Amino acid sequence: MAERKKKESPADAGKVKSEQSKALKEKLFAEYKNLWEVASPEDKDSAFAFSEEYMRFLDIGKTEREFVVAAVESLEELGFTEINATDHLAPGSKVYTSIRGKGLMAAVVGKKPVVEGFNILGAHIDSPRVDLKPCPVYEDSDLVFFKTHYYGGIKKYQWTATPLSIHGVAFREDGTKVTICVGEDPDDPVFTFSDILPHLGQEQMSRKPADIVKGEELNLLVGSIPYEDPDAPSRFKLGFLNLLFEQYGLKEKDLVTAELQIVPAFRSRDVGFDRSCIGAYGHDDRVCAFPALVAVTDQEKPDKTVVCMLSDKEEIGSVGNTGAHSRLYENFLAEIYAKTNGAFDALGFAKSLENTKLLSADVCNGYDPTFSSVSDPRNNAYIGRGICLEKYTGSRGKSGASDSNAEFFAGVVRMLAEANIPWQTGELGKVDAGGGGTIAYIMANKGMEVLDCGVPVLSMHAPFEVISKIDLYYTYLDYKCFVEKA
Ligand code: MN
Ligand code: MN
Repeated sequence: MAERKKKESPADAGKVKSEQSKALKEKLFAEYKNLWEVASPEDKDSAFAFSEEYMRFLDIGKTEREFVVAAVESLEELGFTEINATDHLAPGSKVYTSIRGKGLMAAVVGKKPVVEGFNILGAHIDSPRVDLKPCPVYEDSDLVFFKTHYYGGIKKYQWTATPLSIHGVAFREDGTKVTICVGEDPDDPVFTFSDILPHLGQEQMSRKPADIVKGEELNLLVGSIPYEDPDAPSRFKLGFLNLLFEQYGLKEKDLVTAELQIVPAFRSRDVGFDRSCIGAYGHDDRVCAFPALVAVTDQEKPDKTVVCMLSDKEEIGSVGNTGAHSRLYENFLAEIYAKTNGAFDALGFAKSLENTKLLSADVCNGYDPTFSSVSDPRNNAYIGRGICLEKYTGSRGKSGASDSNAEFFAGVVRMLAEANIPWQTGELGKVDAGGGGTIAYIMANKGMEVLDCGVPVLSMHAPFEVISKIDLYYTYLDYKCFVEKA
């Protein structure tokens, strides 16, 4: 260790002017400012305008399938074509592919050869919700219900006694597809899970919190008028199935193969007298997916090939052929490689993955002063302070974390500093309080440089999640800067 310099005498130190110490503090301390305080009036206006577009997208894309439909429509309008439709790609080519209707890849081909790596924004478009069981329909006490099985990490009690809609697809016996969306139009009926009245809630309130409403108690009310023939067996169920057949041509057995999802029926809303926040279902992770998509569609002829990757099944482990683990996402990158390169070679493609930089764009918990005990206030993202860059996620000893390399993370930070784009940092709650994961490690396994980042959310995974409009807008600027300059 080097010899320590002689300390200044207390008398000298006392002469240091307060301005100097203030300047020194500014130079040395890390400070993450509230962006409403530092944003220009133009940026604030842009944040409100950008939020309107986002809210429109939220309301038409509540499920991964609907988000893909809406995104593909936008992409086609902006001149993107299905990648299969073309054999040769050149700088400026805009292509996309749907990952079995539940995930999406979109890219703008850059000037540099693909072997130098892609710049990718990866977010997910599935959200916690409630699905149907394979044999959902039953009648009990003159009411007709759907048995359900929740998807992802939800507090089940939050989903009762609130209006819900049903979205998804089903296939009739003859193979024709039915797209269903009931509960979104103001004239539509909605559905609901009942709850116990407080008057009789004594036993329920003594249950363990996780069991206040149990999985088997999420039974969706879908009807209560019996089939007209008084002698018919199971008249209430028959009345319902008769209606289902008349309206959609579906029989009970068709529900076995259907993908029907139960989500909150309300639309996204401004929150607060100042309209600074947005409350909605499914910010996790559309609040990252939407700005990522816009950041990529903004590109005309970027340096590197830029990609927006929107995956499914993140909430249950990124599994299956539409989850981030799926080969299908990589296939799209391989196709770009082959169609820009003239031919595919395995080593060249492996090198292009190795040279790839990816932001794993997923929400984090915004510091909630009401429930501050679960967070370390010095190491948590705050609502209104912009995108949160997270070196790692994971739980209890970083289990499942990707933990980005310091070289890469520092590079991203320098890039944002040059562009004068603010950011903040943090981790998901106190060390032993729990935790969570993202798609980061899955992509990092391919050799890419990966950094977790995302928008802070209040009430994450609740039917009504809250984010700040200023965070959304600066996240978009961050993403745009990354794909253009990384
Ligand atoms: Mn997420
Ligand atoms: Mn989530």
